Amino acid sequence: MTQNSMAISIKINKTKQSRIHLCDFNNIQFGTIFSDHMFRVDFENGTWQNPQILPYGDISIAPSLSALHYGQSIFEGMKAFKNQKGEAQLFRPIDNIKRMNRSAVRMAMPTMPEELFMEGLKQLVQIDKDWIPTKEGSALYIRPFMFATDDFVGVRPSKNFSFIIFCCPVNSYYPKPINVLVEQKYVRAFEGGVGATKVSGNYGLSMLPTQEAQQKGFDQIIWTDGKEHNYVEESGTTNLFFAIGDTVITPALDGTILEGVTRDSCIQLLKHKGVKVEERKIWIAEIIDAHAKGLLKDAFGTGTAALIAKIASIHFSGTTYELPPVEERFVSNMLYNELEAIRTSQTEDPFGWVVKA
Ligand SMILES: *Cc1c(COP(=O)(O)O)cnc(C)c1O
Repeated sequence: MTQNSMAISIKINKTKQSRIHLCDFNNIQFGTIFSDHMFRVDFENGTWQNPQILPYGDISIAPSLSALHYGQSIFEGMKAFKNQKGEAQLFRPIDNIKRMNRSAVRMAMPTMPEELFMEGLKQLVQIDKDWIPTKEGSALYIRPFMFATDDFVGVRPSKNFSFIIFCCPVNSYYPKPINVLVEQKYVRAFEGGVGATKVSGNYGLSMLPTQEAQQKGFDQIIWTDGKEHNYVEESGTTNLFFAIGDTVITPALDGTILEGVTRDSCIQLLKHKGVKVEERKIWIAEIIDAHAKGLLKDAFGTGTAALIAKIASIHFSGTTYELPPVEERFVSNMLYNELEAIRTSQTEDPFGWVVKA
């Protein structure tokens, strides 16, 4: 990784006027405040060119920008934290870099050299280090994204792309346990589609179903499979876990499930703790049956933004199934506490997940 990094030279243009004094770190609305700088690199004539760090700000685009019309647009989400010594650190950034490149391949977009991505990311986080909040559950949220920039309205893969990383300080995302509706009309992903890809369109299609569920009083939906609506897939934009009896179950990565870094961290942590984990299809009927038998101990979503989003109740076909009080939940509480402690280096990291920025 680092062998090539010496060769990467990133042009740096620092802001003359930091905006950090305008940020009230005790009261941050998720995704509304952006740190001083961004990293940008452009793909032209078949190569990535002109890597630079510059002040965060508007970019100018053509109305015919192909990403806007045909959706060649992918993104990532990860976080930076401060350890006890006040040093900036990242959580499993290489996994986000590799996933972004998998998304790029599926969307006929160019991949980004891992060293260039990592170097831009680390330098940006170092330059905006003071923007990393330190309150429990808070972090500097990092948003890398890539989009097609041809000013051309024909349908074909774009020849030009921009890659940008910006950051926002955030507090914890879902403060309360959520009430979820099992979605049986709309579909998020299907076999052969782009469910496993972090493509913007996956979010676009989720807006209406989520809005309808919220109008009915739910916080989120549980997506089901595209064929029969029989199996659970994800909850909103998080991967799903259920604790049934002594076993923790999460849907297998079959092409419709996003390969969450948090999902994988939870699976590894559970195995490390000697908890039985299964990756497989989960029937809705199985969850309801487990609830009836008193075996449904826990249910939660996992993702970088929320970390662990505990599910308070599941609504399916006219019936609401309440889950045990959150204080009694071994699995989600253990995972939240362990992951939070590892990310901020309050405990040792036996997995090598934490990387210095
Ligand atoms: C990003 C994302 C997740 C969570 O992935 P993490 O790497 O854990 O943040 C889960 N589901 C969907 C649909 C996503 O886009």
